[in-house]
Amino acid sequence: VNKKEAREKAFNYIDKHRSEILDWLCGYVEIPSVTLHELQVQEWTRDQLLQWGMFDKVDYWPVDAEAKRPDVVALISGRGGAGEKLIYNGHCDTAPVEKDQRPLWSVEPFKGTMKDGRIYGRGANDVKGGNTAMTWAARAIKECEIELANDLILEFVVGEEHGTGIGTDAATERGYRAPFCIALEPTNCEIASVMLGNFTMRMYVKGKGVHTSAKNLMLYPQRYGLPCGNEVAVDAIEKMDRFLHAFRDLERQWGLRYRHPLLGAARSTQGLAPFTICVSIIRGGTYYSSIPEFCQIDGEVYYPPWVKYEDIIKEIKDLIAHVSATDDWLRENPPVFEAPVLFHQVTREEPMDVPGCRAFANAWKEATGEEAIFNVFKGGCGEITYLHKAGIPGVVFGPGDLLQGAHGPDEFVPVEQVMQATKAFAAMAIDWCGVA
Ligand SMILES: [Zn+2]
Repeated sequence: VNKKEAREKAFNYIDKHRSEILDWLCGYVEIPSVTLHELQVQEWTRDQLLQWGMFDKVDYWPVDAEAKRPDVVALISGRGGAGEKLIYNGHCDTAPVEKDQRPLWSVEPFKGTMKDGRIYGRGANDVKGGNTAMTWAARAIKECEIELANDLILEFVVGEEHGTGIGTDAATERGYRAPFCIALEPTNCEIASVMLGNFTMRMYVKGKGVHTSAKNLMLYPQRYGLPCGNEVAVDAIEKMDRFLHAFRDLERQWGLRYRHPLLGAARSTQGLAPFTICVSIIRGGTYYSSIPEFCQIDGEVYYPPWVKYEDIIKEIKDLIAHVSATDDWLRENPPVFEAPVLFHQVTREEPMDVPGCRAFANAWKEATGEEAIFNVFKGGCGEITYLHKAGIPGVVFGPGDLLQGAHGPDEFVPVEQVMQATKAFAAMAIDWCGVA
């Protein structure tokens, strides 16, 4: 068979097995796999792949010290001929459903529910829909008896949501390498060749606490000789408020300053101005009738590859210093700023005209009849960062959009995109790995 025939066979197989593919995704969603608790879902994945009996190897090994977090890698070995190795990498872990979020779900989070052309459930979008697509693409290739010339490697890795790269690094260290990879994340089936960087930051403002009845002494001048203002107390939440406003102004300026041809390209749904600074946690004060002694914020900054991390940090620090310089208390008690606090995922740009990008854009067109859309991936994708660090270039791609409940309530993935991605993965593997 030539590539074209192989592709047609695989597409046919995928169309015929639509309901099996979607049932498989629902079953996958039904096994909770919140980060750190991936064991059960990985055992299930391993057993499924072994039961199918079509892979040349189903590798399963723990990547952590307690041996509770295994990676699964399924391999279709190349039979020789013109073609390159290819890695599909999808994380098996999901965000949790915290008890505050649970009442906001209109469906059971850990049950795959199909309705209105969507599959709902935690992880359906991020990223079990994508994992289902890569798995069934491989299955289609095997069941259609298409012999690949070079290896197709499916990586089901642990620990993406915590950004540590533990699962992907373990797979690379175990020897799974290729000249091109596709890391699965919900990109609305757009090819994300640019990865934003993101890092977390923390800022602490010190105040001075006293009984709330002293607020008048803090706010207004008192008779000469009596303590007033900062001598009495300092409201740390109020001080922090000034920085929150300043961050918002900075964010808006960044968005206007750092534009790029890929932002908002073609029919892309990913939006413009991905350079954002989001304060996501505020903690402050210790008691309802005490002037807040402290205020601490945590937040996350996303930035594009055409801006240097060091320049961003400098701009934030300068801003903090400027605001502090205008305030009697903050001048003497400057805020403590830290970044990165938990992680810093570096940026990356894969030129759109490298062979891997061209091949995948072509595979998408073969699979759907539509032109591929290249864009910037807005969310941090841990795994592509770690693959790139290990010298494995690639792009991020997957069915579903981050706005479709990823990490939030009522997460879903559109069924049609799962099917399209399955075909695109099959076509890419046939084209890139080659047919023996
Ligand atoms: Zn994800």
